[in-house]
Amino acid sequence: MTTRQDCVARDQADPLRPLKEQFALPPGVIYLDGNSLGVLPKATAARVQQVITQEWGQDLIKSWNSAGWMELPRRIGDKIGRLIGARPGETVVADSTSLNLYKVLSAALRIARADQPARRLIVSERSNFPTDLYIAESLAEQHGYSLKLFDHVDELPALINGELAVLMLTQVNYRSGHLHDMQALTAAAHKAGALVVWDLAHSAGAIPVDLNGADADFAIGCSYKYLNGGPGAPAFVWVNPRHVDRFWQPLSGWLGHAAPFQFTPDYQPAPGIQRYICGTPAIIGTAALECGVDTLLAAEPLGGMQALRAKSIALTELFIELAESRCGLKASRDLGVRLESPRDAARRGSQVCLSLAAPLHEAGYAVVQALIGRGVIGDFRAGDPERLDRVPHILRFGFTPLYLGFADVWDAVEHLREVLATEEWQEARFNQKAAVT
Ligand SMILES: *Cc1c(COP(=O)(O)O)cnc(C)c1O
Repeated sequence: MTTRQDCVARDQADPLRPLKEQFALPPGVIYLDGNSLGVLPKATAARVQQVITQEWGQDLIKSWNSAGWMELPRRIGDKIGRLIGARPGETVVADSTSLNLYKVLSAALRIARADQPARRLIVSERSNFPTDLYIAESLAEQHGYSLKLFDHVDELPALINGELAVLMLTQVNYRSGHLHDMQALTAAAHKAGALVVWDLAHSAGAIPVDLNGADADFAIGCSYKYLNGGPGAPAFVWVNPRHVDRFWQPLSGWLGHAAPFQFTPDYQPAPGIQRYICGTPAIIGTAALECGVDTLLAAEPLGGMQALRAKSIALTELFIELAESRCGLKASRDLGVRLESPRDAARRGSQVCLSLAAPLHEAGYAVVQALIGRGVIGDFRAGDPERLDRVPHILRFGFTPLYLGFADVWDAVEHLREVLATEEWQEARFNQKAAVT
């Protein structure tokens, strides 16, 4: 069995280890929530300070030109593009993930209506992140489509048929970490004459993504998770060049206009991805995002996303091995820990979720709180109270290879073992529910 000493040795031999120095991680914290809010890069505070005191404070409105504020959404979009298999000029930073999904799904439906007028079906996954489903529900109603949800990925091939207009998937599931095969599903949808919208919220900066290689149609994603852009950082949007100029996106704001400073009363969309920008970019947040994206690009000389993915798999494999052998069925004393993520690393993103077997079904929230009390930060996602057998409460742990090491994983599992073995989670202070879990 792997010992802590083995883990320390693996850290010492890890060529990606120095990347951790880019982050201002508080001492004593093992941060397993980079899939929800990435860690603050050391460069961000100084950069934001510069934007505020110099570019805004001193240079005022001149900075739209002199500090390149106008180009930020495209410049940072191009940097994100390097992580997701997009070519320069194909990606922009704008708005939130929810809004960008609204834009691309709407454009996809317009294309579908023009090319495949008889088709009336949008398909997605019941366990997709709720905002994605809510946006799809709204657009389905507005455009006269039906939204069909599948429960298990095995049901998907049968739904990719002559009725499908748009398949809308999040590549890595926010709960289970299940990873869809982008290449195969995109090819199958195209063969059936349908379009595919990919949400990369849990894939950009977490796994290698190749949008052009997969010939994807539309993609959007979140910047405050693995891209370390900061809370509420602006999101990104990518559109395949073959679609981008066919229709307006529905939020036809002035900065998506071909010539915004001619102030014409009619809308003429800019060519290319620029039309997916709506209004004025939030410059302070966008500048902070660039520092986050740069922490990933710093891995390029060390093997880039492929190297980060290899380490992420090694970290999640170790976590599963230790959680099961020390807290689960393989332990000398079974503490009830069960794996809920795919066991096959090729089908798993950069996160692992666990459940607790009876009689601990309801203890998940308190166990996560007790871990946080010890400096091991993960999160809790409630299951479906009517179907806890199929959708259990989960303890969710994200693994960010930029700043996590193997000894961190060992220590995290040891804390989990102690919290369960001593029933520390029973303390009242760990059982008070806060608004954000
Ligand atoms: C995190 C996440 C979002 C977040 O959307 P916001 O508009 O930033 O609130 C959307 N979709 C998925 C799949 C996510 O994981």
